Amino acid sequence: MRCRAPLAPPGASVMIAVMDRLPPGLYIVATPIGNLADLSPRAAETLRQADLILAEDKRVSAKLLAFAGAKAPMATYHDHTSEAEREAIVARLGSEVVALISDAGTPLISDPGYKLVRAARSAGHAVHAIPGPSAAIAALTLSGLPTDRFLFAGFLPPKDKARADAIAELASVRATLVLYESGPRLGPALAALAAGLGRREAAVAREITKLHEECVTGSLEDLAARYAEVPPKGEIVIVVGPPAEREAVSDNELDAALDEALSRLSPSRAAAEVAALLGVPRKRAYARALERSAK
Ligand code: SAM
Repeated sequence: MRCRAPLAPPGASVMIAVMDRLPPGLYIVATPIGNLADLSPRAAETLRQADLILAEDKRVSAKLLAFAGAKAPMATYHDHTSEAEREAIVARLGSEVVALISDAGTPLISDPGYKLVRAARSAGHAVHAIPGPSAAIAALTLSGLPTDRFLFAGFLPPKDKARADAIAELASVRATLVLYESGPRLGPALAALAAGLGRREAAVAREITKLHEECVTGSLEDLAARYAEVPPKGEIVIVVGPPAEREAVSDNELDAALDEALSRLSPSRAAAEVAALLGVPRKRAYARALERSAK
């Protein structure tokens, strides 16, 4: 894609870039996560040139499209869109510009779209990314936690047992963790993270790019206590620092921790808890837990 007027003169509106007519295909267009001014000139122009705009919720996206000056018809697209409807969209990609947006941020990131991208690719159509805001990346950059290695884990399951299991799986990952959460579930999620991951630095980034943007940092335990009583309003990302580097854990140390955990838990839960506590691989803890519980 060429941009005929890529550089705006000082003081000029950033919306003046005029692009050549876009070739047909699927355009994955990132949109603001709160501040409309974060819509990129290229994203706005792509929406203006689109023949069809696929949105999660047409009412939510109407304001953004009015701001961008995009007039194409909208159709609803989500994870439950049928195979037949998806095929009908794919059939248009050979001759039309189809833009996929989500309610906010980057489509496909905890949002619908990957099945459509796969279908478009396997039918031989062009797929283009128009990158831009994503709450996960914005929160990571605000958190002050290591950014060299991170794992985006989306939303934790809402139910206690499933959430504890998901956290146990994450416990041995030696990377910063990035999680989406809602206000009412923040307190319980932080408490479960503190229980499953032990003492770690963390951050709660809220309402990023909006009027009440804030990023509160502290240990998981402190943050869990802070948000236990009054659930915060707005949209939230939790960022959790990686486990601390530890000295090699001896078999004796591992056995002692496992014996205590096995007095309360099944071998698999005991192994998950101890692996998180001591920072050892879960596989090693589980193998040892099976040996100890067979005695
Ligand atoms: N695709 C989007 C993206 O790229 O950011 C995320 C969609 S996901 C369904 C929505 C979740 O993203 C919210 O529940 C919240 O956890 C997070 N989120 C979205 N906007 C946010 C904001 N302005 N501040 C903090 N978190 C936000």
